[in-house]
Amino acid sequence: MKRIAIIGGGTSGLSAAITLERARAGGAELDYAVFEEAPRLGGVLVTERIDDCLVEAGPDSFLTEKSWGSDFVRALGLGDQLIGSNDSDRITYILVHGRLVPIPDGLMFMVPTKIAPILSTPLFSWRAKLRFAREYFQEPISRDGDRDETVAEMVERHFGPEMVERLADPLLAGVYGGSAADLSAAAVLPRFVEMERRYGSLSRGMLQARKQREKVAKAGQGSARVAPRPLFTSLQGGMQQLVDAIVPQLASGAARTGNRVVAVGRSRGKWMVAPEQGSPEEFDAVIMALPANAAGRLLQKISEPLSEELQRIPYSSSIVVVCGYDKRDLASVPPGFGFLVPRSERRRILACTFVHVKFPHRAPPDRGLVRCFIGGWGNEAALSLPDGEILAAVRKDLREIVGITAIPRFARLYRWRNAMAQYVRGHLARVRRIEELRAIIPGLQLAGNAYRGIGVPDCIASGQAAAKALLDDGKS
Ligand SMILES: Cc1cc2nc3c(=O)[nH]c(=O)nc-3n(C[C@H](O)[C@H](O)[C@H](O)COP(=O)(O)OP(=O)(O)OC[C@H]3O[C@@H](n4cnc5c(N)ncnc54)[C@H](O)[C@@H]3O)c2cc1C
Repeated sequence: MKRIAIIGGGTSGLSAAITLERARAGGAELDYAVFEEAPRLGGVLVTERIDDCLVEAGPDSFLTEKSWGSDFVRALGLGDQLIGSNDSDRITYILVHGRLVPIPDGLMFMVPTKIAPILSTPLFSWRAKLRFAREYFQEPISRDGDRDETVAEMVERHFGPEMVERLADPLLAGVYGGSAADLSAAAVLPRFVEMERRYGSLSRGMLQARKQREKVAKAGQGSARVAPRPLFTSLQGGMQQLVDAIVPQLASGAARTGNRVVAVGRSRGKWMVAPEQGSPEEFDAVIMALPANAAGRLLQKISEPLSEELQRIPYSSSIVVVCGYDKRDLASVPPGFGFLVPRSERRRILACTFVHVKFPHRAPPDRGLVRCFIGGWGNEAALSLPDGEILAAVRKDLREIVGITAIPRFARLYRWRNAMAQYVRGHLARVRRIEELRAIIPGLQLAGNAYRGIGVPDCIASGQAAAKALLDDGKS
């Protein structure tokens, strides 16, 4: 009987565990255990019900485009629980000199694709708009193939510094808790890098990609009108439904919560996993589904170079603050999903979601939920501030930006220390080196948000891939 240890019980670890469980139920001779430091499984997937509202402490949804996320949810029997974001009310604002300016229609992520709305938006200066127009005619250029540019460098080359400051940086702060000046374009915007190689201009590339998508969709649907998919997908009862569906399906006794792994060793072809409580256990293989730096520390005695590479992947920390209000106290809040705040505005809040608009059923009709994201790359100090100081800063920003003066009915604060891996310059080369070093250690797999995707669907895929690789190992 093959024994597999999964270290870390977040999205990645649970997805690995359910993949192993299905193989076991299908007759594979295996046994597995999930070691999790926290008293519960799920990692950053945490949903709470507070004052009749559904409060997401970590991720609130995932990109619909990453359809394997929904496939995973369906395979868990939760297909009827999938919901889409309320895109008919999707407006996102950027704070510019203290005022909220809507992101104009026709900006796809940070690429202008429509002339009229871009020309009329006050989000950019005329100088910037002229630059966008010129970009459309950019031809593919041969570039030094080995140089890994940052997102800021790449976006500035195409659209100028205003696009970096007003859009690229705040968007990446919202998604990665990161900074455009540090994140690698090849790692976080691979589609853009490919488009640039093919078309030169990103605007032309984006328009071509859209045409192609529409053609494929039409061909698939005959003459029927193709309904656009919502941008974000979530679960009716919150992201934690994933955890609640997986945990009871795991083999009895497999979940070892509240038990941090403190050492990992190898001897005579076997792995020894030593938890903080209880005796070390012997396994045939290990899936490290915990942050890369923690995995690196555990692997120090097994492979010094692998351990070093893993520990070089940096992480950012963040705080999510969720405030519940009576709807009447939100009269001054503009319609839409929320806003992003460029660094130059010098605010505590990096991004804010009006949850009751994005996912209306998450608050009763007469209530509103406002979710703020603070901290991020280079802002570690915020994590150590007392709760009261953070809440006061958030309330001050909300008062000054969207005019909310009322005391919230409730406020909750969630600290996420070192939870978001940062794909900085050189990330993809580092991941390749990690892969090579890992591949020579028998029975070792790595999963998590540190390698090839930070979002929930990416972590699901990495857990599945790690488990499948070990199952396939057994076959050869
Ligand atoms: C605030 C926030 C908001 C986000 N929003 C979104 C979103 O809206 N959409 C989206 O797609 N993605 C979002 N993400 C990203 C995504 O949720 C995460 O990348 C993903 O869930 C990480 O899963 P994981 O299993 O790799 O890591 P984690 O969830 O961090 O799990 C790792 C686990 O390992 C455990 N562990 C660590 N060390 C040990 C040890 N020595 N022994 C045992 N256990 C250990 C930890 O306790 C933890 O539970 C968000 C992330 C954060 C933090």
